[in-house]
Amino acid sequence: MHMAAPSGFKDAALVAASSTVSDADIDALAQRNFLDGIALTQSTNIVPFALIGLCTLALPDPRLMTVLLAMNVAIIAVMYLISQRLRRLAEPQKAVSLWRVYDGFALLSGIGWAAMMMPVVTTLGRDIASMFVCVVIIVSVAVTCMVVAAQWRATLLFMIGVMLCLVPQTIWYMDQIGPIPLLATLGLGPTLYGLAYAVRKQTRSVLRTQLEKDQLAEELANALAAAEYLANRDSLTGLYNRRAFETVATAMQNDASTAPLSLILVDLDHFKAINDRHGHTTGDSVLRRAADVIASHAGPLDLVGRGDGAVARWGGEEFIILLRNMSAADATAVAERMRVDLTQLSDGSWPDGLMVTASFGVAEWNNGISLHACISRSDEAMYSAKQAGRNRVRLHGAETNPEEFVAI
Ligand code: GH3
Ligand code: MG
Ligand code: MG
Repeated sequence: MHMAAPSGFKDAALVAASSTVSDADIDALAQRNFLDGIALTQSTNIVPFALIGLCTLALPDPRLMTVLLAMNVAIIAVMYLISQRLRRLAEPQKAVSLWRVYDGFALLSGIGWAAMMMPVVTTLGRDIASMFVCVVIIVSVAVTCMVVAAQWRATLLFMIGVMLCLVPQTIWYMDQIGPIPLLATLGLGPTLYGLAYAVRKQTRSVLRTQLEKDQLAEELANALAAAEYLANRDSLTGLYNRRAFETVATAMQNDASTAPLSLILVDLDHFKAINDRHGHTTGDSVLRRAADVIASHAGPLDLVGRGDGAVARWGGEEFIILLRNMSAADATAVAERMRVDLTQLSDGSWPDGLMVTASFGVAEWNNGISLHACISRSDEAMYSAKQAGRNRVRLHGAETNPEEFVAI
């Protein structure tokens, strides 16, 4: 019975070898976080827009500023809608054209922010409202660059947009405002870039640590599942080993719905002779095939305590089966079917004339006795089957009655 490994099972050597977080993984997580946090990010625009709106009321001619404000709000609203569409996708990084549109709007947004300088630039230094608008715009642009830094291309395009609009303005109005705003603007570019770059670097390093931690936790869970699987199984047949069987048996006994429980002990007949005559490899093959036949009569075995029964390799060529909701008489019938199936077992790789038979001992496991006491009873019954000539089933308490065979 070659049972499937638990899901997530990986070979321990493979587990140890695979531990790297790629830049693409970080990009994907950064993008996911960016999209998840977009509502919060966009809401940081509310305060500067409100402040600029207030200042607009104090401007001699508020019309241009009102139009620009409305335009900027619209650009940000469109960016929000695009981001929500991207967020609904299973793999947003694959929606390349939608991201291009988003990046295009980031550029427009940069231009839009810088354009709001225009209505106030000529009155700078004379009008407190104008001065305030400038400060709010510069601070907002810097904050925007930092909060969206993880989405690097959009951030760069935003900065380019700001510069594309701001530099010509400071040159165009140089007669009225002098050279200082141009110099300040030229200094602003690298400063914004440096700030955004530092934030991006730090964010990515945090994301890398988070991904490595997640990966480690997954590998640990896989390694534990693998270790648990190996610790509970017999490596030749894939059946439970003794320790696991005892755990399963105790769990089944503690579950009242499994009663009555019956135990079958199986011992292959003259197995030493099979080894001696046909070699150890053939002997192993016989054990594996016999395990398959025996397990096929015990129902599903996937989970501890579930299914109809539990099967284990009890020793070299001995197997044990615990059947739930099974009286001793019914278990004897199951054992008889196993016996017949084993006699019909054959394999293309086996030498001609190899015949497999086994002797079976059955006992009902009632609550009054321990598991090992019940195993002893099955063992006695199995020994009696051996003595009676092998290749037969014996029920504990009826060992001496040769008529005990159950008809199929
Ligand atoms: P009986 O009918 O009385 O049970 O006789 P038997 O030959 O089956 O019993 P015995 O206890 O004398 O021999 C059991 C043999 O099983 C001896 C041992 O070498 C062999 N054996 C135990 N484990 C393995 C194994 O993993 N692979 C192989 N090929 N043989 C094994
Ligand atoms: Mg034996
Ligand atoms: Mg034997």
